[in-house]
Amino acid sequence: MSRTKTSKAWMREHVTDAWVRKAKSDGYRSRAAFKLMQIDERDRILRAGAWVVDLGAAPGGWSQVAADRVGPTGRVVAVDLLEMAPLPGVRFVRGDFGDDGVLAQMESLLEGRRVDLVLSDMAPNLSGIAGVDQARGAYLAELALDFARTHLSSNGVMVVKVFHGEGFDALMREIRAGFRKVAVRKPEASRGRSSETYVVARDPVQNDAPEPSEREV
Ligand code: SAM
Repeated sequence: MSRTKTSKAWMREHVTDAWVRKAKSDGYRSRAAFKLMQIDERDRILRAGAWVVDLGAAPGGWSQVAADRVGPTGRVVAVDLLEMAPLPGVRFVRGDFGDDGVLAQMESLLEGRRVDLVLSDMAPNLSGIAGVDQARGAYLAELALDFARTHLSSNGVMVVKVFHGEGFDALMREIRAGFRKVAVRKPEASRGRSSETYVVARDPVQNDAPEPSEREV
């Protein structure tokens, strides 16, 4: 299929997608907001007062849901490569999450505290080369896992987007080694034909890494 035909098909699916329409009418910035709501409905991950990190946050659907649920006593720190229009209750850092400088800015907004919930909906820009896209997706999930291992509180939770395909099993083994309870979810709002799934991981196996505030940044 020509590129134009493919993008037309994508556009048609996108604008007629019921979740896209619902996001618009309910005031959410993305259909993704419903994925987080559906995960939360089942797994009860968001609570008032929680400190949350939202990786790959733009345009902001997950951050909207998170800020609403944690309320004024909680905190949401969001990061994305792309600019994100301000949202009440969300502190935003623009940049590549893999950069040390970006990590340092996030840690400063977290005031050296551990967090209750790490969310990652990060996805790479698609090159169209399946192997490359798969490897990039796995790398982003690894970055999120590394962050969760060193920044989650002892009863913290991580929700990370992972893509089925090469590297999936290895990533799952790593997640299972780092957390005592691991579940794989495919929320209804996630397109059936997409290879994305979300891993909900609880009860991190404690590591000896010092609190972020004790580390040199
Ligand atoms: N959860 C978002 C929402 O509810 O609106 C949608 C996230 S979108 C599917 C994936 C995001 O990951 C993109 O905005 C992209 O810029 C971001 N991303 C990809 N790689 C990243 C990186 N290395 N650092 C920060 N953000 C990244």
